[in-house]
Amino acid sequence: MPQLYIDGRWQDAASGATREIHCPADGELVATVAEGDERDAELAIAAARAAFDEGTWPSTPGPERGLLLHRLADLLTEEKEEVARLEALDTGKRMVEARLDMDDIISVFRHFATLAAAEAGRVVDPGMPGISSRVVTEPVGVCALITPWNYPLLQTSWKVGPALAAGNTFVLKPSELTPSTAIWLVDALDRLGLPKGVANLVLGPGATVGATMTSHPDVDLVSFTGGLETGRGIMAAAAPTVKRVALELGGKNPNVIFADADMDAAIDNALTAVFLDSGQVCSGGTRLVVEESVHDQVVDELVRRARQIRLGGPFDEQAETGPLISKQHREKVEAYVEAGIAEGAKLLVGGERPADPELDKGFYYLPTILDGCTSEMSCVQDESFGPVLTVETFSGETREAAEDAAVAIANDTIYGLAGAVWSQDAGRAERVAKRLRHGTIWINDYHPYVAGAEWGGMKQSGIGRELGLAGLHEYQESKHIWHNTSPARAGWFSDDQA
Ligand code: NAD
Repeated sequence: MPQLYIDGRWQDAASGATREIHCPADGELVATVAEGDERDAELAIAAARAAFDEGTWPSTPGPERGLLLHRLADLLTEEKEEVARLEALDTGKRMVEARLDMDDIISVFRHFATLAAAEAGRVVDPGMPGISSRVVTEPVGVCALITPWNYPLLQTSWKVGPALAAGNTFVLKPSELTPSTAIWLVDALDRLGLPKGVANLVLGPGATVGATMTSHPDVDLVSFTGGLETGRGIMAAAAPTVKRVALELGGKNPNVIFADADMDAAIDNALTAVFLDSGQVCSGGTRLVVEESVHDQVVDELVRRARQIRLGGPFDEQAETGPLISKQHREKVEAYVEAGIAEGAKLLVGGERPADPELDKGFYYLPTILDGCTSEMSCVQDESFGPVLTVETFSGETREAAEDAAVAIANDTIYGLAGAVWSQDAGRAERVAKRLRHGTIWINDYHPYVAGAEWGGMKQSGIGRELGLAGLHEYQESKHIWHNTSPARAGWFSDDQA
């Protein structure tokens, strides 16, 4: 079956090229999909442009657009098990996680469905008789949506949900490694009767398909989730045509544990923070910043627990986390750990592939902890995107000095995506949370999020926000309409004829 979806039709790549998708857990062939290039991207952009300029979707009333998103959520609810299976096979993640992702995606579509129906603009009172002034929202236009491989359909829902809610048309390019659930999504939109040309799907590499989407003059907005280097390139590619750019990039997220924390909860959550999904989580708590007086207690327990983490594939019910996405990615993580050790970090656990021969066919890597780290080390500053925890220690003579020291370490990064603070002193926890320059802060928790709250990064973790209200506004233009109901001469210039 062809898998590019352009102008309401399924088609093969213009070149006829295909790509095999293999499960990272065991190397099994999962699918063979079309591999598009610049020509396919051009066709898809033209279809999205025509659907925006001449089609009905941009002017479809908000409640109707919302209804379609509700029906999409219903369809995913019905087909959840199958879609979770597609996601698990592409990414190698466990079914239990893929099912949770589906629940999140359903709530994302419902969130934007509700916002689409509620969007009303606003009236401004200029204080002048006969003048009505109002601000209305309109769709931005043709959106290029580019997504990564770690949460393929979830990241896509954060973009497709608001893009459709606001009345835009789009071209979607998922990661070339994980296309299956994007295919399901556009097929679902087709089945729901979305007008042709509104949703378009082009599979293929970033260097060809992605580059065309980010530089093409007919694209109005680029929304990208992925790595920092790619994001920098995309900003530059979008600059000549001054596109709107929304970027969700990497993170180097501090998990700060004070000595007065609930230690049992803090330690257990520190494991989830970094080792969930083998560390392939942009907001993962990869930097443990722990108060010196409890360092040994916390780190000894983390090492003991990390040794017990069971690795396995999507359908292994005993597994607690899965493989890395690819051979190349595992090599990157290995090089990162070696560089950390060379710079003086102390390897406490992991740092190698598992010995279990049953895992040989997958790209597994053991949960790893590096102690004695400092801010200058590359393992503390660079994103590994793997199951690697670095440990930094802070202390202070006084309560304030300890907080200052923790905050200084936690903010010492070019990134600013997420972080956590653990303390049973609510005042301290709030003070520190306020001072952390990261877009999401958990207090005495790690990882949960809700579709109604904005998500995104400060500093080089990105531009703009997804989810919440701001996540819809990224896909909207504001227009001010000034209406004079009693037109009269301006009277500014003299009129000798009068
Ligand atoms: P990546 O940057 O390699 O690729 C992301 C997407 O960009 C893919 O679809 C890829 O094909 C495309 N791409 C690559 N080069 C391109 C180009 N020149 N022009 C246009 N598109 C191009 O990232 P990845 O390895 O897929 O994902 C991992 C990264 O994503 C990590 O850095 C992670 O932190 C980040 N991430 C961030 C968030 C967030 O919410 N901030 C969420 C998930 C992942």
